[in-house]
Amino acid sequence: MFRTYTHPSCLRHDTGPGHPERADRLKVLLNLCDEMKLETTPAREAEMEELLRVHPQKYIDAVQDAVPDRGQAYLDADTAMSPGSWDAAVHAAGAVCQAVDDVLAGKCARAFCAVRPPGHHAFPDRPEGFCIFANVSIGALHALQKVKRIAVADFDVHHGNGTDFIARKHAGFFFASTHQSPLYPGTGLPEEDIAGRVVNRPLPANAGTAEFRAAWINILKHMDAFKPELIFISAGFDGHRDDPLAQINLTEDDYAWITGELTKLADRHCGGKVISALEGGYDLTALKNSVAAHLKAMASS
Ligand SMILES: [Zn+2]
Repeated sequence: MFRTYTHPSCLRHDTGPGHPERADRLKVLLNLCDEMKLETTPAREAEMEELLRVHPQKYIDAVQDAVPDRGQAYLDADTAMSPGSWDAAVHAAGAVCQAVDDVLAGKCARAFCAVRPPGHHAFPDRPEGFCIFANVSIGALHALQKVKRIAVADFDVHHGNGTDFIARKHAGFFFASTHQSPLYPGTGLPEEDIAGRVVNRPLPANAGTAEFRAAWINILKHMDAFKPELIFISAGFDGHRDDPLAQINLTEDDYAWITGELTKLADRHCGGKVISALEGGYDLTALKNSVAAHLKAMASS
């Protein structure tokens, strides 16, 4: 009842030398799937109609036009495209939509999308922070064609500012995030919460297990009250203590714990339906061990 979606094109999104969001991240996760004897399902492309629920045509065309013939083209200071990036981006968004189709059709209850580029910083009309298309939001709006209430839990160490922006426009879209603050992108303050629907819980630098779990215990109460019919996880593992991009001290056990709590909440409200998609996580060993803990908790609970 558990599936992992990925696509070889996601390895061909080449962000250039020295970029933290690199193909090796996905390579170690595909090796992990082999070691865990998890079969992977090839992801489909996102349909134009699915992209258009989040992104205007003008933006989608601009992304396609920006694909370079060789080397890298920068969409902004952090977000690079290579000749393979369009294919990767449409398969990253397509994986989440395919997971939605399969989970809502009862083919599996849980899914993990091992994809890149990530998505939670992408806005409807602009890329940001290594993200081109808003993968999880595209999946969320795809699901909202069939169900009334979905929830996104984002435990990446950075605020999912793109997802937050999109969630605010849709009454059936619950978004919650823990993130280091202050840190890029500088948003996600609880003062801007929409009560019971957009719930941001910043963590100070050097916070660890206790602060992370306390924040999520609070968030989970709001999520329980919302009664989601499907739960998405924006699964970023850059809050790990060994990650070079932030200063939060989580361990593999914390990722197992939050995954277990989210799957239990899904069991209470929606037959266990959880779709997780990879966001950040830049230390390869920490990423591999954290995803292993995440997948074990997804597959076993
Ligand atoms: Zn991140």
